[in-house]
Amino acid sequence: MTMIHAPSGPNLEQVRRIVTEIPGPRSRELAARRSSALPAGLVSGSDVYVRAAGGAVVVDVDGNSFIDFGSGIAVTTVGNSAPRVVERVIQQLDSFTHTCFLATPYELYLAVAEELNALTPGDHVKRTALFNTGSEAVENAVKYARAFTGRPSVVTFDHAFHGRTLMTMTMTAKNRPYKQSFGPFAPEVYRAPMPYPYRSPGGADEAFAQFELLVDNQLGADSIACVIVEPILGEGGVIVPPSGFLKRIADACRDRGIVFVADEVQTGIARTGAWFASEHEGIVPDLVVTAKGLAGGLPLGAVTGRAEIMDAAPTGGIGGTYSGNPVSCAAALAVLDTIREEGLIDRAQQIGSKMSSELNSIAAATEVIGDVRGRGAMIAIELVLPGTHIPDPDATARVNRYCQARGLLTLTAGTYGNVLRFLPPLSISDDLLAEGLGILRDAIAVL
Ligand SMILES: *Cc1c(COP(=O)(O)O)cnc(C)c1O
Repeated sequence: MTMIHAPSGPNLEQVRRIVTEIPGPRSRELAARRSSALPAGLVSGSDVYVRAAGGAVVVDVDGNSFIDFGSGIAVTTVGNSAPRVVERVIQQLDSFTHTCFLATPYELYLAVAEELNALTPGDHVKRTALFNTGSEAVENAVKYARAFTGRPSVVTFDHAFHGRTLMTMTMTAKNRPYKQSFGPFAPEVYRAPMPYPYRSPGGADEAFAQFELLVDNQLGADSIACVIVEPILGEGGVIVPPSGFLKRIADACRDRGIVFVADEVQTGIARTGAWFASEHEGIVPDLVVTAKGLAGGLPLGAVTGRAEIMDAAPTGGIGGTYSGNPVSCAAALAVLDTIREEGLIDRAQQIGSKMSSELNSIAAATEVIGDVRGRGAMIAIELVLPGTHIPDPDATARVNRYCQARGLLTLTAGTYGNVLRFLPPLSISDDLLAEGLGILRDAIAVL
């Protein structure tokens, strides 16, 4: 390649530009190499290969420049290769890359913990432990809850996604592709109904009654360590529980001595127009799990929660070789500074209202969009057969492909595979946002 002097990362030109067919020749070459090097089932949502990315733009190996409405699944919230992140990471690489916090500790870990203790909802005394991924952090939230309560069971919800490790795959609701062929699953994981306003309007009372039936009559509260919920269910299709439902669940947990865990891996760190989506519902979780947006693309996960719960795990019982890696911690501190200094929480709200109003206008002119929903910069549309509620995953895949071919990267989601979700970096300009939504409007029009 002769493009080594092209601007990249923080300096990448913020434009959409398609210069080859999609995927281009170089991406197709890599696809051929991939099929002889990687397992067949390890698939990617898009078939272009990245050469560079910065801000809200991804450039592929053929020189095509895409508007990014996915943020690498809600990770590059502050923008790809955001300037402060790049600077602090380079500085940290020059100091040290690893010691293992369990072997020889360092201040950066403490600084990230102090930030999360201060930022997460509630003014009780908190502690934070760091991990590498969302799944690993969720697993450890379960360990803390079990150690604190001395109880075995974990209650999760319909449409939940908590990860791909044995425990978190078990906690995840959807069979294909997450669970099929991979059992037997971890014991003592139970599932309660989640109201899904578009598909079961008025379902909150019934869902809560079923929750109480499960907790009180079937399991018995004194066998339940924790209840874990995503305040907005991301992979499940950006399902926003009816207002007040999460508060009822949280209150029910408190009354029964059950640890209430918010999995904010996707919703946390400014994505929804608040530091944490729990804030929109006025809930104060006992434990908050974060990852994705926390470190700008470097792997980092965290469990933050009540000191008495976190302090209950036995000495030396929690940790990991790479957990709280110093480079990831440096990135996280830069991410949190960027959010504050660039006013990105307000920006997430603005992006949300711009996206919602444009998507509602697109939806008003078609029968294939059944629902527009989400909060802040986490918005989705649900595609259905015209005039019905019947999911249309084929149309969803077609829209996704059309957008990619025109230079817009989007993500699909949903228990029924019929949700298109938009999670742009909060650094996106109004112009790029509008241009991306214009492509989406065209994609729906030609369906
Ligand atoms: C992505 C995600 C996870 C898993 O995170 P990984 O870093 O992929 O292990 C867990 N919970 C939620 C809500 C997620 O969106």
